Amino acid sequence: KLASREFQQHNTIVTVGTASFGGENIPVIAGPCAIESYKQLQQAAASAKEAGAAMLRGGAYKPRSSPYSFQGLEKDGLEIIRTVGQEVGLPVVSEVTDPRKVELIAQYVDMLQIGTRNMQNFVLLKEVALAKKPVLLKRGLAATIEEWLMAAEYIMSGGNDQIVLCERGIRTYETYTRNTLDLSAVPVIKHISHLPVIVDPSHGTGSWRWVSPMAKAAVAAGADGLLIEMHPCPEEALSDGPQSLTPGNFAQLMEELDKLTAAL
Ligand code: PEP
Ligand code: MN
Repeated sequence: KLASREFQQHNTIVTVGTASFGGENIPVIAGPCAIESYKQLQQAAASAKEAGAAMLRGGAYKPRSSPYSFQGLEKDGLEIIRTVGQEVGLPVVSEVTDPRKVELIAQYVDMLQIGTRNMQNFVLLKEVALAKKPVLLKRGLAATIEEWLMAAEYIMSGGNDQIVLCERGIRTYETYTRNTLDLSAVPVIKHISHLPVIVDPSHGTGSWRWVSPMAKAAVAAGADGLLIEMHPCPEEALSDGPQSLTPGNFAQLMEELDKLTAAL
């Protein structure tokens, strides 16, 4: 298998503009769940950059559980994230939910995100395999590690080996947290695969209060990076406000991560 350690012994390093995953650094991708306006994303991006984030995130096409929830700004959102990314000097990632939109989105972003709900959308996986952009492949919300790696296999066998895996929590019987963040996936993936793996404690826990401790735990477990939702004003967020850090809390987390990585 192309993603296995047997196939390739050395770690794959995935470079996205100025950020690289799988090497010495532990890049942090930060930004709001959804792009809501130029001003909102610009403020988030400025805070992210200032605190030391390596990439900016924001959804333009949102895969919402309810059709009545905010669906994203679509192409206008892509224009905004491209502009803001260039202005602050951060590479950008945004989710692609539709195989027919891969080519369009790839023109605006530095990395394509496959969300948890689409991890086994094989038509979409084959389409991003053809895109000349790195892919952030989130673990399916009920996927085993084996199924997750097979999804990566679809992309690699289709011709794209620039894949960063992202653990974002799985469904269990526990309901206190939104999902159960499976941090054991990190050392397991590092052992059986050469691909970089990052952790998203925002979707993994569903509440801003648990984001910082689980982000630090992820780094201690060997994660190659983090994805953190941050909003200039979480109470006003159109999606995932409860799990979004304020810029202040994000800056504090980044300081704590610095100390942690220095100690590791
Ligand atoms: C997101 O990153 O905003 C997102 C929708 O994540 P997930 O697919 O992990 O739920
Ligand atoms: Mn979100």
